[in-house]
Amino acid sequence: MKSGFDLIIRSGSVVTPEGVMQADIGVADGRVDAIARKIAEPAAQEIDATDLHVFPAVLDAHVHFNEPGRAEWEGLASGSASLAAGGGAWFCDMPLNSTPPVLDAAAFAEKRRLAEERSVTDFSLWGGLVPGNLDNLAGLRDVGAIGLKAFMCGSGIEDFPGVTDAATLRAGMKRAAELGLLVAVHAEDDAMAKKLTDAARARGATDVRSWLATRPVEVELSAIKLALELAGETKCALHIVHVSSPEGIALVSNAKRRGVNVTAETCPHYLLLNEGATIKQGAPAKCAPPLRPEALRQKLWQAVRGGGVDTIGSDHSPAPPSMKTSADFFAIWGGISGIQHGFPLLISEAMANREEAALPLLAKLLAANVAQRFRLPHKGRIAEGNDADFVLLNLDDEHELTNDELLYRHRQGPYAGRKCRVRVRQTFIRGRSVWHEGSIAPGAPRGKFIGPTT
Ligand SMILES: [Zn+2]
Repeated sequence: MKSGFDLIIRSGSVVTPEGVMQADIGVADGRVDAIARKIAEPAAQEIDATDLHVFPAVLDAHVHFNEPGRAEWEGLASGSASLAAGGGAWFCDMPLNSTPPVLDAAAFAEKRRLAEERSVTDFSLWGGLVPGNLDNLAGLRDVGAIGLKAFMCGSGIEDFPGVTDAATLRAGMKRAAELGLLVAVHAEDDAMAKKLTDAARARGATDVRSWLATRPVEVELSAIKLALELAGETKCALHIVHVSSPEGIALVSNAKRRGVNVTAETCPHYLLLNEGATIKQGAPAKCAPPLRPEALRQKLWQAVRGGGVDTIGSDHSPAPPSMKTSADFFAIWGGISGIQHGFPLLISEAMANREEAALPLLAKLLAANVAQRFRLPHKGRIAEGNDADFVLLNLDDEHELTNDELLYRHRQGPYAGRKCRVRVRQTFIRGRSVWHEGSIAPGAPRGKFIGPTT
């Protein structure tokens, strides 16, 4: 044990994927320098975490901060602050909602520059895979893209077209595999969704239930099957984002057994809300794939507990109120804003029956597995030598969530009024306090760009 800690967190219940143990954590130069039952020496700053849990800071591989170009939808500063408030230390921004979209190295460099200037959390960036940008993929790899995101249906963004046919996706995955890049897919079958949507529109449907009926589970399963097949064929590492159904997770688990290099992400909203929320709340609870019936939500929890889900990402996807308002539900922009409330509420619900086993599992899904899959150096678990990224959680502080406390550019979200027992007291990123007792710490440092290790 070295001397000269900058910070010691004393007597907290430290959560790792292996379990929960009471320990002191010594931090030096932004790294965890010692974890011990009792650290004898003092530090410049000491925090008594008795009665608190020290949880690995959330690593959120799926956000839409919309900057540059659509910062009025969210922005890197407000988005990253909301993440820190929700217990996160790192995000990976999706390539589509920025202008220009991140389809080449130059667009990547511009977004990186802005995020270095504005983000309070560490970050990485996705590149995009669209029809016609195969020759830019090597450049994206060279500047440190975490992977490539492709839409198997329309993305809703004109300059980010979907890869909606098998031949184009196969070619993209083949090239990605050669480059050692992972491909993440939004898995919904374009042709199926279109057919159902066209039929609904033809009979003049504008209501929420009709919209839900255009994206049944089969739309998701059909796309997942194709993506798995192509990943097996091309040997491309595949990550299926926002899997909404237990059947989708089962397909992924089967493919893993066949040796396909694939992981599955789900999102807090698929575990915390069902389609009734979309029907009741409307726009704040509209997303694609949509929220599912209650029975499927429960089975998705079973899939999580059974180890079928690899990672949980927020898919925080806001839009200005003007785009979330329409008498025609089909015309409302999809996307749930959940990065600040989603993670604490998820932990709260997972612990509803005081199931201690839920904590190590969530430490895996929210942090350790994310760092492993995306090859983030020194991140993802509270361990000696790793970045001192952790949050102090009070697991027994029941309060009602309100939209007023959201740091989003637009204070909308689907969780207002929900009771949450978990409160994020403080978020540390590389040993520095970024969020503390309800506000961003004054002088919080800027985040750091993280490229994947090779
Ligand atoms: Zn998304």
